[in-house]
Amino acid sequence: MTRTAILSDIHANLEALTAVINDAEARGCNKIVCLGDVVGYNADPVACLDFIRSLGCPAIKGNHDEEAASDESTLMMNPVASSALLWTRAQLDDDRREWLRRLRLVRSVSPFTIVHSTLDQPNRWHYIINKYDALSNFGFQLHRLCFHGHTHIPKIFCYQGMQTTEFEPADFVPMEDQKYFVNVGSVGQPRDGDWRASYCIYDHDTNTVSFHRVEYDIATTQRKIIDAGLPSILADRLERGL
Ligand code: ZN
Repeated sequence: MTRTAILSDIHANLEALTAVINDAEARGCNKIVCLGDVVGYNADPVACLDFIRSLGCPAIKGNHDEEAASDESTLMMNPVASSALLWTRAQLDDDRREWLRRLRLVRSVSPFTIVHSTLDQPNRWHYIINKYDALSNFGFQLHRLCFHGHTHIPKIFCYQGMQTTEFEPADFVPMEDQKYFVNVGSVGQPRDGDWRASYCIYDHDTNTVSFHRVEYDIATTQRKIIDAGLPSILADRLERGL
């Protein structure tokens, strides 16, 4: 039996990550993949990075991972993003920043592909909001199934006969003659109005994709954000799922 838990956008939320790992284990997952943005926004970048790194699982780079590992100016960012990024950079030593820097943008984890944003221009960090945005991705998608994150909103985009359709998250079995670009949502900062951590499981034996939401100790995550001196809006948005 092989079951892979697919996690994205952990964003330094250790309580959400721990709850998701426990849930995945209870559901029989024996593999994990990480779709990027391990750090950024919340207060546990070191613990989350070290945990994912210790798993030695397939992991790819998100835009926040890239920004945290770089020394570029934050002058063009809004004040909340800038102060959160500068705080995150200060927590990460050279070794951890180098680990982030070395992450690849796209990986094949047969029988599927993983990318943080899109396959057509993975280094441009485009947001796939609707089926029209998703169209250009499918020309670059070799596997029937590709998992992504980045918008923090779980969703299914399906391509068949030159047409793209989108579906709300629901468990499904990928069909032979279709391609699927699946957003697994966010572990550490969901934005679909549901505060619970989001992730997907792929069951290799039954060829089934399932979506899962997990409650976690959000009060502790919020307290850590405030204690760290991070912008309080980052704590507020967690409980609203925005
Ligand atoms: Zn993100």
